Amino acid sequence: MTPPNPLLQAWDAPGVLPPFETARAEHFAPAFDAALAAHDAEVAAIAGNPAAPTFDNTVAALDRSGRMLSRIELLFWNLAASETSPALRAVERAMSGRLAAHHNATLLNGALFARIDALHGRRAELGLTAEQTKLLERVHLDFTLAGARLDAAKARLGEIVEALATLSTQFSQNVLADEAAYELVLRDERDLAGLPEQLRHAAREAAVERGKPDAWVITLSRSLIVPFLTFSDRRDLREQAFRAWTRRGENDGPTDNRPIARRILALRHEQAKLHGHATFADYALQDRMAGTPAAVAGLLERVWGPAKARAEKERDALRALALSRGEHLEIEPWDWRYYAEKVRKARYDFDEAALKPYFPLDRMIAAAFDCAAKLFGIRFLARPDLRAYHPDVKVYEVRNRAGDMIATFLSDNFARPTKRGGAWMSVYRSQSRANGTLPIVVNNNNFAKAPEGEPTLLSADDVRTLFHEFGHGLHGMLSSVTYERLAGTNVLQDFVELPSQIFEHWAFEPEVLSRHALHCETGAPLPGPLLERLLAAQRFNQGFETVEYVACALVDMALHAQVDPTGTDITAFEARELARIGMPREIVMRHRLPHFGHLFSGSAYAAGYYVYMWAEVLDCDGYDAFREAGNVFDPDTAERLYRYVYSAGGTLDPLVAYRAFRGRDATVEPMLAERGLVDEAAAAGRREGSGSAARRATT
Ligand SMILES: [Zn+2]
Repeated sequence: MTPPNPLLQAWDAPGVLPPFETARAEHFAPAFDAALAAHDAEVAAIAGNPAAPTFDNTVAALDRSGRMLSRIELLFWNLAASETSPALRAVERAMSGRLAAHHNATLLNGALFARIDALHGRRAELGLTAEQTKLLERVHLDFTLAGARLDAAKARLGEIVEALATLSTQFSQNVLADEAAYELVLRDERDLAGLPEQLRHAAREAAVERGKPDAWVITLSRSLIVPFLTFSDRRDLREQAFRAWTRRGENDGPTDNRPIARRILALRHEQAKLHGHATFADYALQDRMAGTPAAVAGLLERVWGPAKARAEKERDALRALALSRGEHLEIEPWDWRYYAEKVRKARYDFDEAALKPYFPLDRMIAAAFDCAAKLFGIRFLARPDLRAYHPDVKVYEVRNRAGDMIATFLSDNFARPTKRGGAWMSVYRSQSRANGTLPIVVNNNNFAKAPEGEPTLLSADDVRTLFHEFGHGLHGMLSSVTYERLAGTNVLQDFVELPSQIFEHWAFEPEVLSRHALHCETGAPLPGPLLERLLAAQRFNQGFETVEYVACALVDMALHAQVDPTGTDITAFEARELARIGMPREIVMRHRLPHFGHLFSGSAYAAGYYVYMWAEVLDCDGYDAFREAGNVFDPDTAERLYRYVYSAGGTLDPLVAYRAFRGRDATVEPMLAERGLVDEAAAAGRREGSGSAARRATT
């Protein structure tokens, strides 16, 4: 007898984990079949209900539906990212199109949308709670964005979405092809001048892979080209490599992205028009906290001036350093990283290796738990008896002040071949009072695991990443809402990084470090001077970094705010726009348009590259609330942060939520201070005859 498919049994009860030990790849296809059919039947019943639409029989019913499908999907996509296998990848290939089509079909169900739309039209008269109103508006917008409102144009919209998907894939593949086609071959010691041992090693590996075992190869992969530009003493080679790097996607021939971008822009414009918007930027921003392109421009322009002023000073310092070595030159874009590294070494040098013993992974996890305990009164209890999908994954039970269980936390920190790169937070189960479910949250990192018996040590960047993902994790674990669609991190894209980025601030608080950053062998606390140098170094070169980022965000917004993008030549557009904003000649956009994947390899960040900085304004200003209270764990501030941000999910309008937490709108100054740009901002304020402190961001 075949044992029953473990994926067909529910695992919804608090503390119960998905069937990690019994589920196998071959269980997924039949389970998906059953779950898709079940969801189709549920949706058909809601859409075809003979009773008049009510909030409960339509909107809440839709939120309750698809439990089996979401359970299986979440398990599947999480495993595909954290612990994949050839068998799971085969399921992915077979299922991803079908799942996408299923969700799209639900959103384009005309009878269902008619019920939602009718309710939405008289939502003020339905006697709904604030959260119910929010759910109705959210669901209505989900359907509207998918095109439910369009009748005759539905088919055309479908064609556009499909064409955009194909063009996006082509765009990324062209960039990859240009990166793969290029190699800078280094033959001898003269070519290698200045390169550190680690980079030589990586360049040798790249050469071996390319069948040149006697040479060293620099490719256009960021992990090789950036260190090469930073360390190579050979100005001619830096220039050569830099030019190739910044021309990705802009080479004549089959990998030319310019015509592809032109078509993408035209299709997006048509898509926006079908939805009744004048430009794609207007269309994209209706589902973001910023709301309008003008609000985004307001923020970016406030940062642009101070960033340029700082970059000018940085350039002067680079020139001075070159001069001190007897080199009379204008700093060119391929020189910046090289001389910046020399300045950094002279001013802020410290040994990363000396820092790491103070950041053992286990202690830093304890530090994150401790901060969460101090802020929100929650405790993490290790459950070594529970096994997740890999022996390295630690399982914790999360309890609140009253001792009630509120979540399960999976901590998955090590790199392995079966896990994708990067760091991210995800859920295996969302919190929902209506469904009676507690969240299961996972944090994934890719730290290199130390050999058996030795502690895994983190860099300062790793510690920041750990706290960042844990901040997202808390957003999922502390969620306290009724409806699943509004739970945890289901918030607008320019708000979702607030809980993660604000949590990073606690990682480097002296109060936290003195308690947790203890030397792994001696137990000695992190020496003050070392910490000061670390913090100072984090502000170094911020003019350059801010300029290369903000230029991208400004060009992105201008590009998608065109009222008529027909025939846009992205190279010419970029040059015009950079001239208009006064781009410093020594700095190039972090991503030039012909290889700007955020904008063209998908649509999520189109007219949306600004979101990183938007969130940074919020997290810096938000953290200042604790500083103003004179206690980085101030209980009242923490309580408001919990109530309006970490627990609220998407139940509140983000502007309203932020204002309720902070007592006012966010200001841009704390972010400028964090980046070390305040002097420049103050100077700009004086020039304009207004005090910068009185100026508010539009957030
Ligand atoms: Zn994040």
